Amino acid sequence: MMLSGELIVGAQRQRGGAQAFQAIDPQQDRALEPVFYEADAAQIDAACQLAAEAFIAYSRTDLAQRARFLRQIGENILALGDALIERAMQETALPRGRIEGERGRTLGQLNMFADVVENGAFQGVIIESALPDRKPLPRPDLRQRLAASGPVAVFGASNFPLAFSVAGGDTASALAAGCPVVVKAHPAHPGTSELVARAIAEAVAQCELPEGVFSLLHGTSVQSGSALVKHPAICAVGFTGSRAGGLALLQLAQQRPVPIPLYAEMSSINPLLLLPGALRQRAESLAQGFTDSLTLGCGQFCTNPGIVFALDNADFDRFVQHACEALRLKPSATMLTPAIARACEQHAAALATLSGVECLARGQEKTGPNQGQPQLFIASARDFIAETRMQNEVFGPVSLLVRCASQQELLTALRVLQGQLTITLQLEAQDQPLAAELLPLLEQRAGRILANGFPTGVDVGYAMVHGGPYPATSDAHTTSVGATAIQRFLRPVCYQDIPAALLPQSLQN
Ligand code: NAP
Repeated sequence: MMLSGELIVGAQRQRGGAQAFQAIDPQQDRALEPVFYEADAAQIDAACQLAAEAFIAYSRTDLAQRARFLRQIGENILALGDALIERAMQETALPRGRIEGERGRTLGQLNMFADVVENGAFQGVIIESALPDRKPLPRPDLRQRLAASGPVAVFGASNFPLAFSVAGGDTASALAAGCPVVVKAHPAHPGTSELVARAIAEAVAQCELPEGVFSLLHGTSVQSGSALVKHPAICAVGFTGSRAGGLALLQLAQQRPVPIPLYAEMSSINPLLLLPGALRQRAESLAQGFTDSLTLGCGQFCTNPGIVFALDNADFDRFVQHACEALRLKPSATMLTPAIARACEQHAAALATLSGVECLARGQEKTGPNQGQPQLFIASARDFIAETRMQNEVFGPVSLLVRCASQQELLTALRVLQGQLTITLQLEAQDQPLAAELLPLLEQRAGRILANGFPTGVDVGYAMVHGGPYPATSDAHTTSVGATAIQRFLRPVCYQDIPAALLPQSLQN
């Protein structure tokens, strides 16, 4: 399937008017055809204007039609066949099994949101009928529903080229809410993005929706992303990426003449807490499970276990020994982009220079360009408490073990812990009193608390929370994965004494 390198602005395909760029195959360190062009200011404006024009009609589509549209996108993505899988593999160095799995997850998300839309409960309807005889004052007829907030800008994530990119969770939840979407493709996988964008644009036409419901823009500079966030037609933003990028865009969103919400999923080190009973019974298998989770996908998951806390004793020594042995066997692997591989090396080196941090083990040497080498560090809880930079995310297969001299020190370390997507407890029955003491604190620190598992692997369902306090995200009250992600793109509207014929269908008797 030939790629054109073009933008998709509503129904039009056009060459971007700004800077030319190419995708890089990180495994070969070579540029891939074709040449893509960044959108210029007029093209960004055109995509946003079209989204604004489409908004009212799209937000009022009947729910069955909207659900059909979401399912059609999934069918069209599947119909892209192997061309999509191969291009995504080339652009990201992720293996076939992972990309195929991600395609399945992308389709699953679209179908789940189609179900959510059909069910209708997401509109949160509340009806308080009029009480004309209420004393001392009559009550008016009050009806509330959650309505679509307006056109949404989505920044595709580098580490999920399908499931959190052009047709990923942010796009699916915004479209489900009734919001047109303008996507800024991640510059690391523009070909994958073009293919998926074509599938969405085709679904827009097949379902006879207004063309502005979806546009794809390319960009390789901060200017294009900034212009998108600042555009007056954009009402909300979904972003997954670095803390620096998320914060820069958040500032822009807040400094606009009309500030808008920006839902950024940024950085998390996903602590594992190895409680004493679990360590006593399972030090070896815990070490293996942790090392496998740490190195899965070369550590390029937002839920990668970047830090481990345990009480200092002989059981923890066994864990450390086995984790080091397991890690030394792990190969270095190609990372998503040259910049991500460089950042991994630099951030691991910065961690190594912090006072009290010691390198325990490294995985096998690098054998090719843009690889990340697994690394394991250790520090005392006393040093961890004194040095907040130990909490900086190293995006890649790198983790820090923290040795706590006492339960009190463990609690103090958890009190200084920043916000996280996940915190995992490894525990046995005898650990439950300690776990019960920790849980209220963990609830304050993370969006998801797990027991006896590993944080990598996020189930997409109705109860999932993929969010958490800053710096994990910019808004701890929301999730970017799962059915309730739709709520980010809805806002409550109350209709008071509005004649029945004028009410939205969901609010009629
Ligand atoms: P990134 O640099 O934050 O870029 C993500 C997207 O945001 C890109 O489209 C980028 O566009 C745009 N962007 C970034 N800064 C911007 C700014 N100041 N103004 C306007 N647009 C901006 O993330 P990345 O490329 O995916 O990876 C870089 C690092 O992010 C990784 O090394 C890792 O540390 C972190 N990361 C974390 C997670 C996580 O889930 N925790 C996931 C992915 C990445 P341009 O490239 O065109 O500027």
